[in-house]
Amino acid sequence: MKRAAYFIPFQGCTRRCVYCDQAAITGTDGPPITPEVVASDMRRLTDPAELCYFGGSFARQDAETVTKYLDAVLSAPFGSVVTFSSYPGDFDGSSGDLLISTLKQYPIGTIELGIPSLDEDVLAACHRDGGTESIKRNLIKLRDAGFHLGAQIMIGLPGQSPESSASDIGRLGAIVGDFGPWDLRIYPCLVLRGTELEVMYREENYSPLTLEEAARQSGVLLRLAKHSGFRAIRVGLPESESLRNSVIAGPYHPAFGELALSEATALELAEETPFGPWKIDRKKISHLTGHGGRGIARLSELTSISEKSIRDLILKF
Ligand code: SF4
Repeated sequence: MKRAAYFIPFQGCTRRCVYCDQAAITGTDGPPITPEVVASDMRRLTDPAELCYFGGSFARQDAETVTKYLDAVLSAPFGSVVTFSSYPGDFDGSSGDLLISTLKQYPIGTIELGIPSLDEDVLAACHRDGGTESIKRNLIKLRDAGFHLGAQIMIGLPGQSPESSASDIGRLGAIVGDFGPWDLRIYPCLVLRGTELEVMYREENYSPLTLEEAARQSGVLLRLAKHSGFRAIRVGLPESESLRNSVIAGPYHPAFGELALSEATALELAEETPFGPWKIDRKKISHLTGHGGRGIARLSELTSISEKSIRDLILKF
């Protein structure tokens, strides 16, 4: 189904997470698009679409605004759905129950929840409100209400270690259980101009991951995610001129997702057998050969077999 994505930067956000600048990430500055404009766009569609609202805390807006944005999907062709990203702690208590009963009146595609970490210290360092227990409670509540969910996790945050990121996947996977697959997005933390993280970085209170560290950590998470009930739909922020111009430091690469895939592929093959030969779908061979043969080099490093021999041991099918 075709996507119609709208960005509503910072809509509903009650505070600013230290790393976030939605204007830079989405390239959208100025007032957010109104529900009326979205509804008018939806009326012009000829086929069902997935209407998406990203870039804010959708369900944290006031109830009337949430309803207006949701209503826009009713103007789209029959079969359309609405997907949104939101804060994970908004579905607690009776107000959360009310919100869920409102959402159930609409064709919801996916509710994507920003879960940068499940580590209390990391959440506090990033100025996130709500803690791990609230996140887990909300996930279970939404899961049991029958919604398809997505998780947006991060790596390289202040105070975050590779071990804590890996443990996040395991803890989230325990909640997914038989309800998956859930969607997963992995975002390496970047230092963006004008954010509090920039101040922390300049005062030497924060060190971002290197590109190689981020690619390696993402590869490990992709491997874990595959066995934990997730379907990875994105690794790395979408490339844009505004993002490129806003990055001050951190593991920025226009094709970061491909680096992560090359790492995941090398790890997978080395786990399969440390000696080869390795059979690989020819459509996926670029995961090994792309970006200067990064995947081949990593497989060589992991298996202690020369890159030349690795190339001979790869069987395309
Ligand atoms: S990360 Fe999400 S919740 Fe935090 S400021 Fe950005 S849009 Fe708002």
